[in-house]
Amino acid sequence: MSSALASDNPTVRAFEASVTDIDGTAVVLDETYFYAEGGGQPSDRGVLGDTEVVHVREVDGAVVHELASEPDFSVGDEVTGVVDDDFRTYCMRAHTASHVLYGAARHIFDDLGYGGFGISDEKVRVDFETTTEIDDAALVELERLVNRAVWDTRDVSWEEIPVAEAREREEIAFNVKTEEGVFADSDTVRIVTIEGWDWAACGGTHVSNTIEIGPLEILGRSNPGEGLTRVEFTVGPSAIDHRADIQQSAYEAASALGTNLEDLGSVATTAVEARNELESELRDLKAEVLSSRLAQFETVERDGMMWKVGSVAGFDANEVGEAAKAARGDADVIVAVGESSAPFVVVASAGDIAAGDVVSEVTDEFGGGGGGSPTFAQGGGIGAPADEVLAFLQN
Ligand SMILES: [Zn+2]
Repeated sequence: MSSALASDNPTVRAFEASVTDIDGTAVVLDETYFYAEGGGQPSDRGVLGDTEVVHVREVDGAVVHELASEPDFSVGDEVTGVVDDDFRTYCMRAHTASHVLYGAARHIFDDLGYGGFGISDEKVRVDFETTTEIDDAALVELERLVNRAVWDTRDVSWEEIPVAEAREREEIAFNVKTEEGVFADSDTVRIVTIEGWDWAACGGTHVSNTIEIGPLEILGRSNPGEGLTRVEFTVGPSAIDHRADIQQSAYEAASALGTNLEDLGSVATTAVEARNELESELRDLKAEVLSSRLAQFETVERDGMMWKVGSVAGFDANEVGEAAKAARGDADVIVAVGESSAPFVVVASAGDIAAGDVVSEVTDEFGGGGGGSPTFAQGGGIGAPADEVLAFLQN
């Protein structure tokens, strides 16, 4: 005995059955409409007698109901089983939606194969085996096709057919990961058909028409392994909420860009291009300003050497460093003091004066630290304003 009663009669929520075995909190009945976890679908929840059913699993062909506590009934008793309606209905809708999604994938993917499937409380995942790159446009098209198939009210039906016949029908999708066990001990296989849309070997519970699924929202894609693309989606209240969140984000973006939803994509693209161009122009202009500032540095003679000394504002130490190397020219050394909340000093030298020594001279006097090579050095955290450091260097 398996979950076949649940799969064949998915609308049954209450039933009577005899207790055939009890082991602590584990209960077996002579028949059950509870669905045992399997094939990517979680187990039903519900009540047996007066005790909560927390999990249902299949062990050696028997459906074992795991209760929250030891039952107050005994082997041989007749008990009433009640399947939790909300969760089962959600599973039926979510499960059937995965078949509709696979049917949609048949329309747009090449070399399609079934790589796995799973339902959680919040979302559903389907793993596709395909050589087609599933990009944003493909996700949009999948979602459009699924919601269209829901609207088209396609009948969903199931039947047992011989395994050999199923293997011959090319349109039937096999989930090799979860269905292999089904073939091992059976001559027949259960085929779930969505009229004109999808055919799959499946032992789960399904709704009888696609319209029952309601709206579906694709959440995104990921790569769970070589050759596989995972697509996650949601149905029901979480799909409705997700849709609202996306709408809200889109309206905010459109409002910020001063456009409408229809033009959002092109306006955003244009705005990003314009920003990149401005950033590039700004970089060039700043470089120009910096080199002209460095060119105006005062030349002083110290110990027979030619020094260029001055201060710069609005640039960081790295920007100044590169520019200073280029601006030294014929001078023996150039020293740029950066005016900023954390004053810094940059030294580029021909080598006769060690750049690091100049930095040390400044940090010994004013605090801070730094270092570098004989031809280039930087110091930071200087504890004095730029003009004081300049006065010190010009003496
Ligand atoms: Zn199914």
